[in-house]
Amino acid sequence: MRRATIRVVIPVVRWQKFRCLSQVTDGVPQVSSAQERPTNTSRESGDDQFDVVIVGGGMVGAAVGCGLASSALTRSLRVAIVDGNPATKEKYNKKSDAVPDSRVSAITPATVRFLKDVGAWENIQRSRHAPFDAMQVWDYSGLGYTRYQAADVGEDFLGYVVENNLLISSLASALERTGFAEIICPATVQGVQFPAKTSSSSARNLFENLSERAQSHIGASTCVREQKNVGQTSPNSFALNDDWAQVMLEGGRLLRTRLVVGADGGRSRVRDMAGLETRGWDYNQHALICTVRVGYHHSTAWQRFLPTGPLALLPVGEDMSNIVWSTTPEKAKELKAMSKEDFVTAVNRALTEDFGPLPSSRMGGPFNSKWLTPLFGEMPPSVSEPFIAPPPVTACLSDRLSFPLSLRHATKYVSNRVALVGDAAHTVHPLAGQGVNLGFGDAATLVETLREGIKTGQDIGELALLEKYEKERLWANLPMMAVLDGFQRVFGTDFPLLNIARAGGFNAVQYIGPLKKRIISFAMGS
Ligand SMILES: Cc1cc2nc3c(=O)[nH]c(=O)nc-3n(C[C@H](O)[C@H](O)[C@H](O)COP(=O)(O)OP(=O)(O)OC[C@H]3O[C@@H](n4cnc5c(N)ncnc54)[C@H](O)[C@@H]3O)c2cc1C
Repeated sequence: MRRATIRVVIPVVRWQKFRCLSQVTDGVPQVSSAQERPTNTSRESGDDQFDVVIVGGGMVGAAVGCGLASSALTRSLRVAIVDGNPATKEKYNKKSDAVPDSRVSAITPATVRFLKDVGAWENIQRSRHAPFDAMQVWDYSGLGYTRYQAADVGEDFLGYVVENNLLISSLASALERTGFAEIICPATVQGVQFPAKTSSSSARNLFENLSERAQSHIGASTCVREQKNVGQTSPNSFALNDDWAQVMLEGGRLLRTRLVVGADGGRSRVRDMAGLETRGWDYNQHALICTVRVGYHHSTAWQRFLPTGPLALLPVGEDMSNIVWSTTPEKAKELKAMSKEDFVTAVNRALTEDFGPLPSSRMGGPFNSKWLTPLFGEMPPSVSEPFIAPPPVTACLSDRLSFPLSLRHATKYVSNRVALVGDAAHTVHPLAGQGVNLGFGDAATLVETLREGIKTGQDIGELALLEKYEKERLWANLPMMAVLDGFQRVFGTDFPLLNIARAGGFNAVQYIGPLKKRIISFAMGS
């Protein structure tokens, strides 16, 4: 019986670690110390059998791995994370550069709670990250604006801006600390074969196997060395489990598994191979991103809606900011090609001058909070805040990158022995910085579903169990996707009556306290 394994495979050389098991929680052992030593490179077929294979080691795939590692019940699973991009492995060990990476994510307090739970937040806290306590949105017509404050909902921060590389490396180092999961990178998944259905005997086998592992851990009081051919993952037992999924890697390696997690991004191969369809459309917009220097340090997320798409200026630390400029593909090309000096001028004009004036703080006169308090109760602090012009951009510090934008949603997130998470399940417009937050929500729910499945003796790849995950996430993801798409449409239209209605909307949110608080809570993932 294998007790527990820690492996990192960097294509051929294999390192194995041996855990010392001494404490037991919930009937499952806790790791108290670990040693490692190199072993031979031979590959036995039993080594290529896993409980879970996560395809895609980006932010969301790594988060699923960390989530599984952080729970005593799921820690008994044998897990592999496969990623085809050699750069992903580099990101796992990446230290911050002097200039922040231009790929950043605004993460919500709900995501921060998840990152704390899985042990990845501590590293982020020690590294460069930028909390923001205010948000200001307005449009080019200059007819209205909305300011949000964390204090409106009794919080210190609305969220944090963190470089994607730091999110990945923090998740990876949390994984490394637990010694959980075999990381196979670079290795592109070329195909996945799924069985037609899962047999109930397979569910029984999984339960027996996990109980057996937990039992053996309970009895362990000294350091034990890993033994191969653990219960269901032995070559012999594999022959009995031909209803497992098979993941084919470039170069011919074949992984057999109870559950494939598709965390392989918007163009998910796993999704295609599982026959899970998507609905959606292209926005005919590209997001141009880069790091800039601004006139002063700030902790506000600014966003101006232009007729061609929103332009956001996010704090990233010190006097630096991140630009996310969603615009037509032609304009994005032009912005990328111009000199850095001209780009800085273009950004400043687009933030403050082009298309129309900045909103006046007197616009909301009729909505004066004195009139509204009797109707809606105590007003949040930001109701009386004036419009504030964003800081000037003074230099462009990084390369300018651009990404085509689209909305895609898988009509089903699960099938027999497969579950989609993150962008593989849904891709959204970045205008409210929600994409990876939804993905982390998927990761948390999937881990919780698998935990519940193990507790109640179910097969973790069985459709009935996975459908619980799907149901929960559809309820969370669909409303957010609808709101983001609605925003994109309303703000992307230049029509006088609509401009006035939109301004009315900004003012209503600015001055009607309860509405404002609900919007903030929704955006914070509460
Ligand atoms: C401009 C822009 C700004 C954004 N800003 C925010 C923001 O502020 N906040 C926010 O929450 N979200 C934001 N997002 C969205 C966020 O970046 C994505 O939701 C997130 O990157 C999705 O992560 P993921 O792990 O699901 O997929 P990905 O990051 O796409 O990772 C997929 C991984 O799978 C691997 N892979 C793919 N195919 C294979 C294969 N066949 N075999 C093996 N490996 C494979 C890839 O190498 C990659 O490592 C933004 C997006 C854009 C474009």
